[in-house]
Amino acid sequence: MPGLRAGRTGRRRPGRMSAPRRRRRLVERIRDGDLEIVIGGPTGYGNNVYVVVDRATGEAAFIDAPGDPEANMAAAEAAGVRPTRIFLTHGHFDHTPAIDALKAAYGAKLYADPAEPGLKDGQLDVPVRHGEEIAVGNLRFRVLSVPGHTPASTAYLCGKSVFVGDTLFPGGPGRSKDNAALQEEIASIVRELYALPDDTVVYPGHGPTTTIGASKAEYAVFASREHAPDLCGDVTWLNS
Ligand SMILES: [Zn+2]
Repeated sequence: MPGLRAGRTGRRRPGRMSAPRRRRRLVERIRDGDLEIVIGGPTGYGNNVYVVVDRATGEAAFIDAPGDPEANMAAAEAAGVRPTRIFLTHGHFDHTPAIDALKAAYGAKLYADPAEPGLKDGQLDVPVRHGEEIAVGNLRFRVLSVPGHTPASTAYLCGKSVFVGDTLFPGGPGRSKDNAALQEEIASIVRELYALPDDTVVYPGHGPTTTIGASKAEYAVFASREHAPDLCGDVTWLNS
């Protein structure tokens, strides 16, 4: 029942002893040059909704299609745009449920790595390849192939902003199904993401952002340690 949440008095307030935790506004808007990032949600499984907008032309794209279509559309409406593209980071079920509805609502085309599992027949409109650039108005989004969390996870870089799906979060990599996948994921992060400038902002599929510089510093701790040969799952740079 939206609007009838538990009374505020019953909720734990962030105190001095707990990590700062900001409640997200309905929609958050961030500028990186002509790129505007509109963050909605969370929806579905705590998924962020991202609409990326070229403010010079008004052209826009969704990053993934998570949760309720309405949550995605609300972010687009707040930005005053009609996104014509969906850039898919990976095919997990929580990143894809609104694809068909967003295609129907906006005539949006789905861009994804054709090697990524999880899409329904006919959903993929435009296959993407590592290193290519996709235009959104005057903006250019560079496709970075970052396999590991899934077989063909993809990140999208524009200016000092990179949208990474579930490949990298504050504190560590996204969940890996076995050690080989973890090793592949770490190699992708080091090769493609840690090569970016330290002040590049990392926008993950769930939760808050981090920066490349902060993440690299955490990873240095992980890389300095020995690890069990079967390490996988929910790995953290500082505690695994
Ligand atoms: Zn995932």
